[in-house]
Amino acid sequence: MSYIALSMVPLLIFNMTIMSFIQEYFINQEIDELRVNAYRMSDVVTGSTFEQLQDPWALNRLRNSVDQHSGLWDVRIIVIDNNARVIADSNHHVLDSLVGQTLLQTRVLNALNGQNSNLLYRGEEYVLYRTTSIRDANGQIGAVMLVTDVSDVFDSIASIRTRLYLYSLAVGLLVVVLVFLTSHRLIAPLRQIVRVVQRMSIGQLNQRIPINSRDEYSILARTFNNMTEKLEQVEKTREEFVSNVSHELKTPLTAIKVLSESILGQENVPEEVSREFMQDISSEVDRMVNITNDLLALVKVDQREQSLNIDTLDLNQMVEDILKRLSPLAEKKKVILIYDEARKVRMEADEIKLALAISNIVENGIKYTPRGGTVKVAIDSDHQNAYITIQDTGMGIPEDEQDKIFNRFYRVDKTRDRDTGGTGLGLAISRSTILLHNGSIRISSRSGEGSMFIIKIPMRY
Ligand code: ADP
Repeated sequence: MSYIALSMVPLLIFNMTIMSFIQEYFINQEIDELRVNAYRMSDVVTGSTFEQLQDPWALNRLRNSVDQHSGLWDVRIIVIDNNARVIADSNHHVLDSLVGQTLLQTRVLNALNGQNSNLLYRGEEYVLYRTTSIRDANGQIGAVMLVTDVSDVFDSIASIRTRLYLYSLAVGLLVVVLVFLTSHRLIAPLRQIVRVVQRMSIGQLNQRIPINSRDEYSILARTFNNMTEKLEQVEKTREEFVSNVSHELKTPLTAIKVLSESILGQENVPEEVSREFMQDISSEVDRMVNITNDLLALVKVDQREQSLNIDTLDLNQMVEDILKRLSPLAEKKKVILIYDEARKVRMEADEIKLALAISNIVENGIKYTPRGGTVKVAIDSDHQNAYITIQDTGMGIPEDEQDKIFNRFYRVDKTRDRDTGGTGLGLAISRSTILLHNGSIRISSRSGEGSMFIIKIPMRY
C-alpha cells in the first residue's frame, strides 16, 4: 500500500499542476486575442459617430474592416456611450439586442472610468468579457465590450483532462501489478528471517539463514548467523560449565559419602582409623570450599557491570607482598622464589583483584615446579604498559594445551593436578581479571622445560 501511495500521489499532483497550467495557458490566449481586438474595435469605433452606429449593419461593416482573420466573427460587439447606454449591438436580432438599455455593470462602469477589464463568467456556458474605453481627441466617449463564448476551450481542456486521468489510471494499475509482483520478491527474504527467529525463540539455536543474494538482506543474514553462532557457543559453554561444576562437586561428595559410610558400617572402629577417615572427610570439605570460593570469585569478575575498584597502586610493593605470602609454600616445596624489578611501577588498577590474578599464576609456578626449581617474577614497564613476567623451571605445558588452560576447570593432567589441590579455575579467574583491566596474558612454554606467563596491562585504566 505504501509503495502504491508513494507512486500515485506524485502522479496526481503532477496531473493537477499540468491541468491548471493548460487551462491558464488557453484562457490567457483567448484573453490576449480579445484584448487586441477590443483595442482595434475601440479605435475603429472612435472614427464613427454614434449616429452612424445606430444602423444595425454598421457594426458588422466595422468588424469587417478590423480584420477578417482575427476571429471576430464569433464575438458579440456592444458599444456603450458615456451614460452606459447601449448604442449598438452586433447581435441585431430584435429579441436579443441590448440597444437602448443601460448596462450598470461594474466592468462597464470601470471601463467608462478608464479601467479596461477582463472577466470570465461561468454560467451554463463559459463567457469571456472584455471591456475597453473609447476615446477621441476630446477624451472618453464611451466603451466597447467584446463578449465571446469560450465553452469550446473548456471542452477541449476537459477532454485533455479525461485523457490524462485515464493514462494515470493505466499507470496506477501497472504500478499495482508491479508492486504485487515485486513486493513478494522483496518480502520473501524477510519472511525467511522471521521464520528462523521464531524457531530460535523456542530454543532451536542451530538455525541459520541461507545466504543466496548480495544485497542488504544478505548482510543482515550474515550478521544474524554470526550472532546465532555466538549464542550457540555461549549456550555450549554454559552447559559445559554446569556439568563441570556438578562433576567437580560430585567427586568430593562421593568421597565423603564412601568415607562416612565405611565408618558407620563398622562397629567398634578403632579411634585412629576413624580419626584418619574424619581427616579425609575434612580435606574433601576443604576442597569443596575452595571450589565454591573460586566459583564466587569467577562470577564476580565475569559480572562486567560490577565496576572495578580502580586506584593508584605500587605494583612492586604488591608483588613483594604476594611473594612473601607464598614463600612458606615455596619453602615447603623447596622451590626458590626470585624477585626481579627492572623499575618502579605505579599504575591504576583494582588492587585486590589484580593481586589475586597474579598470585594464582605465581602459585601455579610453585605447584607445577619440582623440588630445586625456581620461580622468577619480574616487573617492567614502557611508557604505556606495565609488564609482569612469571617464569618457572617446572614441567611446562604442551603446545596444544596452551590455549585451553585458561578454560574453566581445565587441567592438563586431570588426576595429578587434582592431587595438587587445584580447582582448575585459577587461570580462568586471572585471565578474566586481566581482560577487565584491558590487558592481555600470553604463555610461552615447552613441555619439561618450564613456562613463562607474560602479563601486559595499561598503566592508565
Ligand atoms: P589449577 O587450580 O588446577 O592449578 P589453573 O586454572 O590455575 O587450575 O590451571 C589450569 C591447568 O593449567 C593446571 O591444572 C595445570 O595443568 C596447568 N598449569 C597452570 N600453570 C602451570 C605451570 N606454571 N606449569 C605447568 N602447568 C601449569
